[in-house]
Amino acid sequence: MSFPPIRPELAGIEPYGAPQLTKDAAPVQLNVNENPYGPSEACLDDIAASVREAARTLNRYPDREFTALREGLAAYLNTDGGQGLTRDEIWAANGSNEVMLQLLQAFGGPGRTALSFAPTYSMYPEYARDTHTTWVAGRRETDFSLDLDAAVALIREVRPNVVLLPSPNNPTGTALPPEAIGVLCEELGESALLVVDEAYGEFRREGVPSALELLPRYRNLVVSRTMSKAFAGAGLRLGYLAADKAILDAIRVVRLPYHLSAVSQATALAALRHADELLGKVDELRKERDETVGWLRDRGFEVADSDANFVLFGLFEDRHAVWQGLLDRGVLIRETGPDGWLRVSIGTPDEMTAFKTALTDVVKELR
Ligand SMILES: *Cc1c(COP(=O)(O)O)cnc(C)c1O
Repeated sequence: MSFPPIRPELAGIEPYGAPQLTKDAAPVQLNVNENPYGPSEACLDDIAASVREAARTLNRYPDREFTALREGLAAYLNTDGGQGLTRDEIWAANGSNEVMLQLLQAFGGPGRTALSFAPTYSMYPEYARDTHTTWVAGRRETDFSLDLDAAVALIREVRPNVVLLPSPNNPTGTALPPEAIGVLCEELGESALLVVDEAYGEFRREGVPSALELLPRYRNLVVSRTMSKAFAGAGLRLGYLAADKAILDAIRVVRLPYHLSAVSQATALAALRHADELLGKVDELRKERDETVGWLRDRGFEVADSDANFVLFGLFEDRHAVWQGLLDRGVLIRETGPDGWLRVSIGTPDEMTAFKTALTDVVKELR
């Protein structure tokens, strides 16, 4: 037995994380799907004043139920697909990563199974491992859509307790049609949850509905969102979900006491007051995304349709060489997804120009 006496299944495992390089090492950072636009001065002032007020009460524990924040999040969701959600149907935590870990703490566990369809978000198997939940991954089609018949067959075979499906999916950008969500919710019935992870929901293309619209119809449906992407709040660590009250009560059993600090609550509320401004850049990013997809296709690359703020493209015989070539030119993207593919986050027009110039250069060099 070697030191430290860690759980055997964790021994030797590297912690998850995309490479974090300084601005000097990589001036153009398009690797973790951040929003390239920061908050305005007015928003910064509001956050600073709100945190200052919150600081007065830091000797006390914060509102354990973050009531005002849940109200603000419900009101926001009702502008983007929510059907009259109230604060009683909203939960939040330190990033949607924590929200999903809490879901598996409450609904997974020993003898229970979580299911997803690969390629998908690389954190899901880690939540499963950390909660002693059995992890099963089915496959997506070659166009990264979901074959519903195969998905239903796998559900019947595996009998999962939780199904995790990002829509739009990371790293492919693929959105799930609402019919698919309906079929899966009905197949799972009351004995399992379908968690639709809409971390990139706000970036979906015109006419693509949110799973929020289906919440009144399916009690076993959970829709999670985050302030990390569209809200330009990756550093804030605020994720949330909308679901039936009974599901929230189950999460309350496993959450740590006072898990959302007074500072987080105050900052998130201030950001919500500036939602129009923060989300205002989403339209620009969607346009830039569609342009990037077109540009890559015009140059003969394979590109997955994207409803997110990133684009998966390929196919490269040696994707690592392309990734490295871009980095050598100051552009950091992500080596992720199926073999041969790379993922680029959508940045400012200047950053996308730098990416396109570097990619053209690298491909010429490697040819
Ligand atoms: C970025 C991302 C999240 C957001 O995580 P946070 O913890 O809220 O920052 C959730 N799900 C997927 C699929 C993501 O790509």
